[in-house]
Amino acid sequence: MEDPRIALGEALAAAADTLRHHRDLGLTEIACQMTSSRDPGAELAAQERALQGCPRCKLSKSRSTVVFGSGNPRARFVVIGEGPGEEEDKQGKPFVGRAGQLLTKMLASVKFDRERDCYICNVVKCRPERNRNPEPDEVAACNPFLLAQLDAIQPAVILAMGNFAAQTMLGTKDGITKLRGRAYSYRDSVLVPTFHPAFLLRNPGDQYKRMAWDDLKLARREWERLTTPHSDPLP
Ligand code: URA
Repeated sequence: MEDPRIALGEALAAAADTLRHHRDLGLTEIACQMTSSRDPGAELAAQERALQGCPRCKLSKSRSTVVFGSGNPRARFVVIGEGPGEEEDKQGKPFVGRAGQLLTKMLASVKFDRERDCYICNVVKCRPERNRNPEPDEVAACNPFLLAQLDAIQPAVILAMGNFAAQTMLGTKDGITKLRGRAYSYRDSVLVPTFHPAFLLRNPGDQYKRMAWDDLKLARREWERLTTPHSDPLP
């Protein structure tokens, strides 16, 4: 049997390695909450019930449905868009229009099934009329609900899609072309910004598609690194 002192030494070395990597990414805090006894699905269901009929901002006047989010609450991979569009407002589910169909394919290109492996939501939960950008008071009103969703899910990786989501999450005015291509620390998660699928539909050249694919591969690698339990090296 392996000497337990050697096994302990290896486990501590692996933990130190992970902590160094997190420090290099800029993470300064470690979540200590036990995840095993939590039920993120039940937490999200309670949050969604509480949001029905939400009157907190002016988007409530024109929306048909509060589009809370969909997917697997235990996936630890969260995709965040800007806000529901017309189809999403009708169906009550995020990313079900043309951009959503492309998103489904983008996720599949890195072997993520959107229902099984991801949780998808938006910065604001109600459709801005004529798909205008959400305004600061609307984002501020909805922000506690996005943060509560993230607290329930505790994602390892967040994919922030498009200028609006990336800028809002990272608190910057830099554009997506500058922000994309790397991972950022965001609360207890790693955040990867990339192009919004609606932007890719409007700009169909290979140039942006290739960059988006690089971002997706980076997000997938980060998710694997952060969610795969450490296994001992072969002797
Ligand atoms: N665009 C978004 O940002 N979110 C959706 O849910 C649909 C389109």
